[in-house]
Amino acid sequence: MRGVLPISMEDIRAAAHRIAGRVVETPIVSSASLGEIAGVPVWLKLEHHQTTGSFKLRGATNAVASLSPAERVRGVVAASTGNHGRALAHAAKAQGIVATICMSRLVPENKVSEIRRLGADVRIVGRSQDEAQEEVDRLVREQGLVMVPPFDHPAVVAGQGTLGLEIVDALPQTATVLVPLSGGGLAAGVAAAIKGVNPKTRVIGLTMERGAAMKASLDAGRPVQVEEVRSLADSLGGGIGLDNRVTFSMCQALLDDVVLLTEAEIAAGVRHAYACEREIVEGAGVVGIAALLAEKISSGGPIVAILSGRNVDMEQHRRVINGEGAAFEEDGP
Ligand SMILES: *Cc1c(COP(=O)(O)O)cnc(C)c1O
Repeated sequence: MRGVLPISMEDIRAAAHRIAGRVVETPIVSSASLGEIAGVPVWLKLEHHQTTGSFKLRGATNAVASLSPAERVRGVVAASTGNHGRALAHAAKAQGIVATICMSRLVPENKVSEIRRLGADVRIVGRSQDEAQEEVDRLVREQGLVMVPPFDHPAVVAGQGTLGLEIVDALPQTATVLVPLSGGGLAAGVAAAIKGVNPKTRVIGLTMERGAAMKASLDAGRPVQVEEVRSLADSLGGGIGLDNRVTFSMCQALLDDVVLLTEAEIAAGVRHAYACEREIVEGAGVVGIAALLAEKISSGGPIVAILSGRNVDMEQHRRVINGEGAAFEEDGP
């Protein structure tokens, strides 16, 4: 099976070569407190220390560096207000090309100015994410801009896979890797890299209990849509695309398990990261810690948990740290 997957080990090694010096090789540190709870050694890959605050810079940098000279002149485009938008804005500017980021009129001003500050050409259109995406499609069609999507793209997945290479290089004896899961670009790339070196290492995807599109799609055996629900792990929201071409088949072939977390468990993860590890991590970034605290991981050690990002609203972070309710109440009747 693995031979026919869209991304190979060579693609990931080529990506690592392409992005070397353009992204941070993030630290990997052991966690005594989580090791005690899990009963096996636990390591944290501090990818929230990545430039722009998330691993998305790896995929975006590889996608931009893979453009042809003609595509570089035309520039890149995406509709993202979150970590992918930041990453693409930074990657494009760093490589001297123009990034256009489309957003709806409803996006708060601080997010708009953040992406502008990173050097992107921000275009405000329409009243929803769908209308922003329609503008992206129009710019691709009429002006030849190159769309760089947040996960379902071979160069993006290969770029995210470089994080997996760093883990196996640092800790070849790793038995289990815990990966935050949404559209599956991170999980697909990391799993391909890790299993390319050691097929026996288990790779487990982690996501929130409600609104998890990849989990629902894996259960259904094909990409399906789910209703979006607000979550503390806001970077894990959104669909996987009904016409998914890369990440669904890779997650299907490579993930050993998917573990779901409640809002209260995610909040506990944010608190543990802060109080015990002295790290500010967004909800999506703590799901590995949350799963260990909730004792939802039964596979062996050493375990590596990827902390994937830190772009949390600091007022929300403060409320979670103070235990002022699990931000989005919880878990139905
Ligand atoms: C995008 C993102 C994820 C999920 O990555 P996918 O490739 O969509 O599965 C997890 N954590 C953070 C911080 C993110 O920005």
